Amino acid sequence: MLQQRTLKTLTRAVGVGLHSGQRVELTLRPAQPDTGIVFRRVDLPEPVDIPISAQAVVDTRMASTIGVGSAKVHTVEHLMSACAGLGLDNLYIDITAEEVPILDGSSASFVFLLQSAGVALQNAPKRFVRVKRPIEVRQGEGAQLKWARLEPYHGFKLRFDIDFAHPAVDSTGQSVEFDMGRDNYSRDIARARTFGFTRDVEMLRANGLALGGGLDNAIVMDDYKVLNPEGLRYDDEFAKHKILDAMGDLYLLGKPLLAAYSAFRSGHAMNNDLLRALLAQPDAWEEVSFAHERQAPAGFAQPLQVW
Ligand SMILES: [Zn+2]
Repeated sequence: MLQQRTLKTLTRAVGVGLHSGQRVELTLRPAQPDTGIVFRRVDLPEPVDIPISAQAVVDTRMASTIGVGSAKVHTVEHLMSACAGLGLDNLYIDITAEEVPILDGSSASFVFLLQSAGVALQNAPKRFVRVKRPIEVRQGEGAQLKWARLEPYHGFKLRFDIDFAHPAVDSTGQSVEFDMGRDNYSRDIARARTFGFTRDVEMLRANGLALGGGLDNAIVMDDYKVLNPEGLRYDDEFAKHKILDAMGDLYLLGKPLLAAYSAFRSGHAMNNDLLRALLAQPDAWEEVSFAHERQAPAGFAQPLQVW
């Protein structure tokens, strides 16, 4: 049987929120089979549990925010992406503020943290959501056009096309494909950082956003070039970060997808719309598990990916 996964032991991280600038502590703890991934706001007078799900997403401006009532957790996508990359099914994430720490702006630190705690196999079948027919969401026309799509696929792969007219981005790869069965998440995707433009920073800060952002946790560009002295980590780091984000956004479904995802200029809002569109059509998907590992799609069976 292809088994569910959790952590072997608990692990901690401390950092600041990208948007809030607030100091925050995370404690990642093992959880029983079929728990799923549950954020717990331990700083509130009464701790509040926020299990991930497509419906738990309450805000998608600048980042993916999940919430229950007035309790929220912002910027969950990079941590969720790391969980997707490592195939973690069950986890408690205790958090002491309303935003996940940005760390270095990628998911590499989360991958390292989770790998260091170790991944444990559990005595329960891993459950997937298998897409049975294409689902698409689309918005705008011409230069405003964006879309995202899920299609049937025995495995999980993503293709993302960006379209930024900017001298520092034009010369990089604007299209990236990542296949769990062929590529290595830790090596190929996890190190891609979030990015932003100096001209947007003033506007964001006026709105109380990006307060914790800077050259040590984002690629920052002026109108002409990348300002980070170390340059880019991958030639196509921008498009790869969009894959990283999409993996995190899609993992908020609560179960790994068996599907081919493709997108053009999509973002957190559209990725969540795509999940909701899928769930709204019960004949377009089914839950599956694999009694024998050899039936499981490549990239999900043992051995575990190593850092
Ligand atoms: Zn991101």
